[in-house]
Amino acid sequence: MSKPNHLDPLPASQNLAGFSERDGHWFIEELSLTQLAEQFGTPLYVYSKNALVTAFTAYEQACLNVDGKRRARIFFAVKANSNLAVMNCFKELGAGFDLVSGGELERALLIGADPASLVFAGVGKSAAEIRLALRVGVKCLNVESIAELEQINHIAAELSCRAPISLRVNPDVDAQTHPYISTGLKDNKFGIAYHEILKTYREAALLSHLDVVGIDCHIGSQITSTAPYLDALDKVLDLVTQLKKGGIGLRHLDLGGGLGIDYGNESPPATTEFTNALLDRIAERGFANLEILLEPGRSLVGNAGALLTRVEYIKLGASKNFCIVDAAMNDLLRPALYSAYHAIVALQKNGVEAQIYDVVGPVCESGDWLGKDRSLAIEANDYLAILSTGAYGFTMASNYNTRPRPAEVMVDGNQAYIIRERETITELLSKERLLPQKK
Ligand SMILES: *Cc1c(COP(=O)(O)O)cnc(C)c1O
Repeated sequence: MSKPNHLDPLPASQNLAGFSERDGHWFIEELSLTQLAEQFGTPLYVYSKNALVTAFTAYEQACLNVDGKRRARIFFAVKANSNLAVMNCFKELGAGFDLVSGGELERALLIGADPASLVFAGVGKSAAEIRLALRVGVKCLNVESIAELEQINHIAAELSCRAPISLRVNPDVDAQTHPYISTGLKDNKFGIAYHEILKTYREAALLSHLDVVGIDCHIGSQITSTAPYLDALDKVLDLVTQLKKGGIGLRHLDLGGGLGIDYGNESPPATTEFTNALLDRIAERGFANLEILLEPGRSLVGNAGALLTRVEYIKLGASKNFCIVDAAMNDLLRPALYSAYHAIVALQKNGVEAQIYDVVGPVCESGDWLGKDRSLAIEANDYLAILSTGAYGFTMASNYNTRPRPAEVMVDGNQAYIIRERETITELLSKERLLPQKK
C-alpha cells in the first residue's frame, strides 16, 4: 500500500497485515473485498488469518528470551473477539485464554482448550460460573472483592477443592485512554484499592479453600504508551515484595491487556518494544522467577478485521451530506459508544467526485454513525470497508431494531471460510412468545 489517496488517516500499512490496496482495489490476503461482499452479502465481518498469526507471533517472540527461555505466556482476552474459529487459531498457536463469563468459558471448553490455560476474570462472577470454573479446573480465578473471595471459598468447600485465586489490584494509574475503557483509576469499579490489597491478601490466606497463587492488574484498553504500564508494574512488584515479607509468596503476575492499536491516528509501541519494556523491568528488579501472564485482546485481533458494508443511499444536504449504509451501530458499536474513529475506504474506483460525508446506518438513533466528515468518492450500491474492526466489533453487536447480526468470514490465503452464519429474522423471532389468549 502506497500513500493513502484520501484525506482521512489510515492505519500505517505495516499495521494492516492482511489488508492491502493494489491498483485501487482492496484485498484481504489474496481475495478482493468487493468479491467477498458480493459473495457473502453485507454487512459482513472479514478477518485475515495471517494477520492473527502475525500479531500472535510478535507477542510470542517477545516473550522468549535470547536463549529461548519463556519469559511470559499469552492469554488471549476472548471478549475482544470470541468467534470459535478465531479462538481456535490462537489455541493452535499455543495461547491460553482470559475469560470474563461462563459463556466464554464454554467457548474455550468447546474448542478443547486445556483448563490449565484459562484464567477467569470479571467483577461479578455468579455462583454458577464459579462452580463451572472450579469443576473444570481453570488455572486461576481473578478476584475483585472480599465478598467474591468469600463466595469462592464457600463454593470450593462445597466441591471439596481449593480454588486457585489471584487478586486484581487497582494500581491507581492514569492510562490516558477513553474514560469508558480506563480501568486502573481509583474511581473505577475494577479491582481492589491499592491501599487495601495487603489486608485483602491476609484475609484470603486465612480462607481454607483458597490457594493464593497470583496477583493481577489491567489498567485499561487502547493504551498507546508504555509509561502507565511501567508505573503500574512497579507498584505491583512493590506489593509482591511486601507480600513475600508477610509470608505470602506468589507464583504468578498477570499484567492484563490493553495495548492499543493504530486506527489511523495513533502510534502505539510495537508489540516487541512494549513486551520487552515490561519483561526487562521485571528481570531488572529481580523477579525473573515469577511466572508472567499477558492478556492482550485488541492488539491481537483489532487490525485483523474489517466490516464490509454497502451504500444504500446518498443524501445531500445544505449543511451535511450523509452516506447511508447497510451496517449500523448494532453491528459496530464503537463509534456510537466511544466516538471511536475507524478508517473507512471505498472499495471501487468509479470516477465519481469525492465529497465529505457522515457515514451513518439505518438505525433510529442520532448516535447511529460509523464515521464523520469522511472524504469518499462513492455512489449508491458501492461497497465500503470499515477498517480495524476485528476487536470489540462483532462481540459488541446486538439485534437492536430487530437487525440480524452479520456473518463472519475468515480468509486464509485465497480461501474464504464462513465462521459464523448471518442470523435470520426467523431465528431472532423464534424465541419470543405471545401471552395466552383470554377466553
Ligand atoms: C478486556 C480485558 C483485557 C483485554 O484488553 P485489550 O484492551 O483488548 O487488550 C485483558 N484483561 C482483562 C481483565 C480485561 O478485562
